[in-house]
Amino acid sequence: MARKRSLEQTHGGFHTGAVPSTSTPTACPACGETPAVAKGEKRHQVLEAHLEQHKPGTPCAREHRRDAAPAWRLDFDAIVRGNPNIWFCSECGFFAPVG
Ligand SMILES: [Zn+2]
Ligand SMILES: [Zn+2]
Repeated sequence: MARKRSLEQTHGGFHTGAVPSTSTPTACPACGETPAVAKGEKRHQVLEAHLEQHKPGTPCAREHRRDAAPAWRLDFDAIVRGNPNIWFCSECGFFAPVG
């Protein structure tokens, strides 16, 4: 009998899921803003939604081993560390510089 796989996504050893945690910062590491958290909302989810605006508009231009379209993924570890480079390429792991 096959066990159900966890929905938590990991890719190449990177954490890609938002982790509810007391260490989740309230301020955006990229712009320093503190998005308001409404009642019933989770702090890390509000921050994750805010961070979408910092996602690079163009896909990673580096060479990839696979033909799959690269996607930008959030590194919540970087957020917790206050690192402004939070979006990494799903194919090569390259972090996009946040401008
Ligand atoms: Zn921001
Ligand atoms: Zn890439």
